[in-house]
Parts: sequence; structure tokens; C-alpha cells
Amino acid sequence: MAAHKVILDESEMPTHWYNIVADMPNPPAPPMGPDGKPVGPEQMLQIFSMPILEQEMSAERWIAIPEPVREIYRLWRPSPLCRAERLEKALGTPAKIYYKNESVSPAGSHKPNSAVAQAYFNKQAGIKRMTTETGAGQWGSSLAFAAQMFEIELRIYMVKVSYEQKPFRRSMMQTWGAEVLASPTNLTQAGRNALARDPNNPGSLGLAISEAVEEAAGREDTKYGLGSVLNHVLLHQTVIGLEAKKQFEKINVYPDMIFAPCGGGSNFAGVAFPFFADKAAGKKVRLVAVEPSSCPTLTKGHYAYDYGDESGYTPIMLMYTLGHDFMPPSIHAGGLRYHGDSPLVSQLLKEGFIEALAVPQVATFAAGVQFARAEGIIPAPESNHAIRAVIDEALNCKKTGEPKVLFFNLSGHGHFDMASYDRYLAGKLEDYDYPEAEIAAALDRLPKLG
Ligand SMILES: *Cc1c(COP(=O)(O)O)cnc(C)c1O
Repeated sequence: MAAHKVILDESEMPTHWYNIVADMPNPPAPPMGPDGKPVGPEQMLQIFSMPILEQEMSAERWIAIPEPVREIYRLWRPSPLCRAERLEKALGTPAKIYYKNESVSPAGSHKPNSAVAQAYFNKQAGIKRMTTETGAGQWGSSLAFAAQMFEIELRIYMVKVSYEQKPFRRSMMQTWGAEVLASPTNLTQAGRNALARDPNNPGSLGLAISEAVEEAAGREDTKYGLGSVLNHVLLHQTVIGLEAKKQFEKINVYPDMIFAPCGGGSNFAGVAFPFFADKAAGKKVRLVAVEPSSCPTLTKGHYAYDYGDESGYTPIMLMYTLGHDFMPPSIHAGGLRYHGDSPLVSQLLKEGFIEALAVPQVATFAAGVQFARAEGIIPAPESNHAIRAVIDEALNCKKTGEPKVLFFNLSGHGHFDMASYDRYLAGKLEDYDYPEAEIAAALDRLPKLG
């Protein structure tokens, strides 16, 4: 058997993040106000600190990773690049399958890569408190860990259904010292409006974002942290792909196709963007974002300006969207239930540089179980989307005899998602149809420019 892991020394960890904006053939479309004019930094400064905003708007190719951030990264980074040879054997495929294991972070996913950076830069800017939202709890727990590392107070608006259904993610956040509230709350106007409409409102990610943003905008000492979608978050995640490139170099292998699950686009960008530079220079590498067929933003959404949150507090961004008030079915991959997608990922898809595909829920769990039985690690339901696509491609290679190199991001482990695995194993998991009528209705409510 080939070596299973490629490990980098801590001293080989990247010193800079990669900013794809420097290499994009067309500049990214700016975020806009409802008046149809690009939003100025003043508006954004209400919720983001200056260093974060500078990164958000930067076109510099390389941005230094400060030493205090690298020090925290070293608690688990560099993460291993692994060869899934036992899975290859089980599939009987000539394809070679590799994955980057991001489940080794304290929170169990890729999300701390940005959380640590955000906490650090806010601390640098003199910020004492942060707010954020969380759905399934992955982002909340990542920022709770990061805020603790840099002694920042953190309040987390957690979507009420998840607060009730995922008590252990909540205790994780509390263990790291964060305050966790079930959203909607009566502390914000957005929350009070939602509760007035429906006292039993189960909450949604878009609504929790509205609450966290509203609080940050109203307090001088408080800024907001977002776990995906925005340019600076994607930037921080590129540490994944930069490490992977070094690891592939060490074994003299180069991937033919790269897969990642796609919710807001940050782990896809993190693993794929550093390879985009090679692609732009003529290398043949296919970059594939994999999403749920029940929340098919990239494959069935509109490329249009839309809000990032339900109440319309955020600037409007040009992206693939299902409509800001579209309520996705409550699938088990909570991290992939977002109506929009990163503007950078969206633009690269629109311009044909990357690909997207959608897979149904039950098949993703089948892939996750197959992976766990071959490789040991039980993947997060989000990661199962990439694994499904990889297994399908590997089976395709079995038919054609092509020994393709397939590489995916194992974005997290599934230890807090065993209730979902239970449903799958009991044969009770369902596929949700693409809610065509609901999406069409939500698209009618996209903001009108000007
Ligand atoms: C949040 C999450 C995702 C999806 O988020 P992106 O913004 O698309 O990266 C994927 N996998 C895991 C484990 C997550 O927690």
C-alpha cells in the first residue's frame, strides 16, 4: 500500500493566505446598497472592523498570516492529506482518491481557520465583543473557541430549532465561554418582529444573521463575525488548499478533479482557489462544488443581486440565490442550508471556471457510511456531499478505466450528527424534492436595484 498520510512539518505551514481576486479574469462585482450604488466602507464599518474590511476589499495576491494566528493554527495544523486507498479497493476503481482532513480542528471542521483569524483581527482593532449566528452549531463553536483564544466576549444567536435539537453543540460553545441565545430573541427588533408574527417561530439562519448584525451595528464595542460567503472568510480558508498543494508536491501527484461540499462556499474556496491559479496558467484541473438537491443554489438558483440575510440588513450582493426569504427544507446537512452563495464562487461558476453539481440527501449518507466503513472517520453530513460526488466519479473511472486523481475536502467529522446517521441507518431518512414553486415565489421578492 502507498503511504496513507502526507504530513507537513509545522514550519512548512503557509505564511500567507491566497487572495483569488488578484487572479480573476474579471474584477468581482461590488456589494450594493438598495439605491443601486456600491456601499461605502462607512456602512460596512458599523459591523466589521477595519482590518477585516481591508481584507474584504483587497486585491493583493498574498496576505500575511500573523504569527499569533499561526500559533493557534499550530494546535492542529498542518492538517494531513490522506490517500483513501481502502475506499479505492472497496470500489474497485483505478482512480486514486485523496482527502484533506479538516476534521482534526478543535471544533471538528474547517471553520476555525477563519474564526481564529477574525477573532485575532478584531482584537487587534480594539474590539471587546463579537456577535454571530449559528445554525447547526459548527460556526458558533468555531468562533467560541477562537474568541476564547483571544479573550473576546462572544454572543451567539443560535437558530431555535437547532438550540433545542443540538444541545451538545450548545454546551461546546458554552464550554469555550460563549453566551448562546435561542433565536429569535426579544433583544433585537428583527427578533421581536419575528416573534410578533409567530410566537413559536423556529428561527432560521437568515433571521439569526439579522439579529447578530443588528446588535453589532448598534454597539461601538461590538463587531459581527460571519462564517462563510464573504471574501475575507474565503481568503482565510485558503490555508487548506495551500497546504494541500505542498503535500501533493511532496508525493509528486497532481489532482485531476477537486471536490468540496458547498454551503456558503468557504471550504470549497479554501481547498480549490489555490489550484485556480494553476488552472489560470493552463493546468487542467476541474473544481467541483457539491450542494444538496433540496437547496440547489448554484445549480438552480438565479444569478442576481440579493440580500445575505432574511430581514435585508446586509448589502445586496451579486450571487447565485434562491431568494433571501426562501426557507430551505430542514435537511440534515445544516451547514449547507443557505439561500445564497459566495459572490466569488458564484462569479467563477457564472464565468465557467468552476463546476457545480447537486446530490440528494439519502445518497450522501450512503456515501458517508461507505467512507466510514473503509477509512474509519465518520464524516459530517455536509462532507458526505463531496464524498458522494467522488464515489460517483470513481465508479465512472471504473467503467472507463481512467486512473484519475480525485481530491476532496473532508470538511468535518460527524460526531455531533449521529442522530441523522441514526435516521439513515433506520431507513427513515428522506429525500426532499427541489421546492420549485417556493423558490420561484422567493425569486419574485428579490430586491429591485435603483
Ligand atoms: C459549515 C460547513 C460546511 C459548509 O460551509 P461552507 O461555507 O460552504 O464551507 C461544510 N462542511 C462542514 C463540516 C461545515 O461545518
